[in-house]
Amino acid sequence: MENEVISTKCKNCGSELVFDPKTRCLKCKHCDSNYFLPSKNEDAVLVRQYSENFHPNQLCQFLKAYKCSACGNVYYMSSDEKSKKCMNCGNSSSTLIEDEGYSADGIIPFKITKEEATKKFREYLRTHFNIPRDLKKLAANGKLMGVFVPVWNFSFNVSATYSANATELRKDSGGAYYSISKPVFGDKIQRVKSYDETATSTQDDVLLELFDEDDYADIIPFVPEYTYGYRVDSANKDIHEYYYDITKKAEQKMESKIKKEILSKYKEVSDIDVEAKAEDVFFNFTYVPVYVNTFEYKGKYYKTYVSGTTGKVVGNPPTSFLKKVGTFFKFVALVGLVALIAWLFMK
Ligand SMILES: [Zn+2]
Ligand SMILES: [Zn+2]
Repeated sequence: MENEVISTKCKNCGSELVFDPKTRCLKCKHCDSNYFLPSKNEDAVLVRQYSENFHPNQLCQFLKAYKCSACGNVYYMSSDEKSKKCMNCGNSSSTLIEDEGYSADGIIPFKITKEEATKKFREYLRTHFNIPRDLKKLAANGKLMGVFVPVWNFSFNVSATYSANATELRKDSGGAYYSISKPVFGDKIQRVKSYDETATSTQDDVLLELFDEDDYADIIPFVPEYTYGYRVDSANKDIHEYYYDITKKAEQKMESKIKKEILSKYKEVSDIDVEAKAEDVFFNFTYVPVYVNTFEYKGKYYKTYVSGTTGKVVGNPPTSFLKKVGTFFKFVALVGLVALIAWLFMK
């Protein structure tokens, strides 16, 4: 039976609905009823022009915001799920702080299920020999949590003007060199694309390695139903600070590149003046789907991320030096053995 979705609860039995990556429908965990997602919002904004006056409260407001009682992390959920386990520290006690917190403009929905992600994760643990055994055990025991992580993607032009006085060497008709002085000037423009960064301080930027152009091409306007059954991390970094950082960096890079070009082209250069400026800055603010595995090892937290679209895995687990050394000696022993056999055969 397929119905239009009207709330976060099943019309049939009143249980919580969750988004099912397989059918791309909402599914009741209790009675297996399926519900279509509402049709797309055609007026949705996916790309915004950056302005100093931008404030996140200009975004759509949909999600309930909860604050973890243990670590203070704020996260969102669209439904009243019973289990409110914090994705930062694992604590289950939280308080509702906002009924309508703001959400990102776009979302990449989950495409693989938690079971598929868990399989990929186990495979990753099995084939990464440099992860210490006790740590592997801890990771394998932990559960994966489906989390939407907010990400900013920026694109802009850097336009530069330059001027300088240059001395150039020329040859006269008799083959003798002479130098002339001439003004050098001009302008240059370059499009800078996709400086992505997570908009949250609770996840590592390493998770961005999981997503490429193909994934970003799948961004659709945010509809809260896609987040049913998943956590949504809050965007707690300052977008204006981030904007300032990336545009300054791009301007400086452009300036030094032009300076280098002028200096390498002419014999002598004076009064060099280059000025670069970022303009036409656009950004999109999107939720990307990841399954997160968090565990504590020797007093530190480690996270491994599985892409919710492809099942690709990245993580920052510590590697064991002894294990690396062990692998090296095994390799040396193997090479020695092969050499010995070869030598015996040749005799
Ligand atoms: Zn039901
Ligand atoms: Zn917490």
